Amino acid sequence: MKFCPKCEARLKQDTSEKNSTCPKCGYSEKSTNQRKQVTVESKSTIDVLDENEPKETLPTIKIECEKCRHDEAVWWMLQTRSADEPTTQFYRCTKCSYTWRNYA
Ligand SMILES: [Zn+2]
Ligand SMILES: [Zn+2]
Repeated sequence: MKFCPKCEARLKQDTSEKNSTCPKCGYSEKSTNQRKQVTVESKSTIDVLDENEPKETLPTIKIECEKCRHDEAVWWMLQTRSADEPTTQFYRCTKCSYTWRNYA
């Protein structure tokens, strides 16, 4: 509940215009309890493949590259998060280094 600072009459809340007005003297003030929008940035971790890149020599497999149609790629397996989830298989084209994943 708010009161007019000029004449101390009870202010009338205008919900549509989000301000309070004094019915006696016409004083008006903006409502302070407006909702503030909170934006939460969500980071995408799905497309970050370079961090999971193994350094050792990898086995190759005969598979067609989606990008350059080369027929050979190196591959490796990665367990994501928990053991309950299926292992993700990664492929990297030996020609253009294009990397993609396959859910086994
Ligand atoms: Zn007033
Ligand atoms: Zn390729």
